[in-house]
Amino acid sequence: MVSDCLFCHLVQGKIESKAVYEDDEIFAFEDINPQAPVHILIIPKKHIPGLTRLGEEDKELIGKIHLVAQRIAGEHSLSRGGFRIVINSGPDAGETVKHLHFHLLGGRKLGWPPG
Ligand code: AMP
Ligand code: ZN
Repeated sequence: MVSDCLFCHLVQGKIESKAVYEDDEIFAFEDINPQAPVHILIIPKKHIPGLTRLGEEDKELIGKIHLVAQRIAGEHSLSRGGFRIVINSGPDAGETVKHLHFHLLGGRKLGWPPG
């Protein structure tokens, strides 16, 4: 828990969010500014500041997050049409929140490469 971190506050329930999944280590919620019909953020409850700050000790957690993504995609009927998992890292990628988060996007044809 980092006191000035927005996503830590969401994990703690201090700021409201629309949760779609939660377990001991992982929290997932609807993005407040959705870029696709399904736009969910999946985050570790533990404050990891970003992809560049991952440690060896996080390997299993990152694997679990992908299993949660698979599950949420299935629950939103995205398994057949497809979906995308995105991590924005650093200013060129448009990272705005410094708590590691995985965007799960789907429900429409997604352009590639991203603009
Ligand atoms: P990024 O730009 O990759 O750092 O992604 C941050 C994401 O957090 C953006 O897609 C925002 O729309 C989303 N976001 C910011 N504040 C909130 C909030 N209070 N609840 C849900 N999503 C949020
Ligand atoms: Zn945090």
